[in-house]
Amino acid sequence: KPVVIIAIGMAGAGKSTFVQQLTTHLHAKSPPEPPYLLNLDPAVVNTPYEANIDIRDTVDYHEVMKQYNLGPNGGILTALNLFTTKLDQVLEIVEKRADNVKYVVLDTPGQIEIFTWSASGAIITDAIASSLPTVVAYVVDTPRSTAPATFMSNMLYACSILYKTKLPFIVVFNKTDVEPHGFALEWMQDFEAFQAALATHHGTTDSDGEPTYMNSLMNSMSLVLDEFYKHLKAVGVSSVTGAGMDEFFAAVEASREEYEKEYLPELARAR
Ligand code: GDP
Repeated sequence: KPVVIIAIGMAGAGKSTFVQQLTTHLHAKSPPEPPYLLNLDPAVVNTPYEANIDIRDTVDYHEVMKQYNLGPNGGILTALNLFTTKLDQVLEIVEKRADNVKYVVLDTPGQIEIFTWSASGAIITDAIASSLPTVVAYVVDTPRSTAPATFMSNMLYACSILYKTKLPFIVVFNKTDVEPHGFALEWMQDFEAFQAALATHHGTTDSDGEPTYMNSLMNSMSLVLDEFYKHLKAVGVSSVTGAGMDEFFAAVEASREEYEKEYLPELARAR
């Protein structure tokens, strides 16, 4: 059975480039293991890769905007909703290919919240995850996450997606060619190192000698995150050079096992 990789990331994190690198990496294997690609971003102008199933083939996003008198975000959401009404057909096609592919890759809309906080996003995720092993790849812009506060809000966002989907989760620290992800791993493994970084950036007390708001907020949040970090895998990649891709696929394999051991039994219980 193939593993489904759902690629999610803030705009600009490098999600599309990552999906392209992933594709290149799999094509370059011997024998090649071309993934089955699904593009769910109706607004993307050109994908750097050829998708097997493309939302743009079923829904014309500009037409949707015009017809329903919507702005860009409403247009994307409505396009995703329309696509979701045909999800059964999509799944049928994917399942037919299941014996011949090792990976199915789902590229999601560039505006992250449209997928992560919409009914359609949840329906698509749940439907796929109930038929095939599925893992979330959360792409992070590493060079833009070096400030402790930014890092933490990014991780909290990841945390909310993890608890919403309950799926195996890989944090992909992207752009390691620009900024190595060592600092991120250190902050995730060592609470005190993160606190020290916070103190350096924000100070620990205000002019009255009281702990700063930022400092106490982050200290309490860090405990929540500490628990969260135990549930995820983290890898560093460069979508430009291809560094770290083997490590990423090792995490995908580990996630497949996790899906079978933890997600599937949970799914059976829920039914
Ligand atoms: P998306 O909005 O998340 O799909 O992001 P894109 O894939 O369009 O990438 C955003 C910008 O980051 C582009 O200019 C990419 O060339 C750049 N980028 C993406 N991945 C990497 C990387 O690994 N290293 C470097 N240096 N730049 C990257």
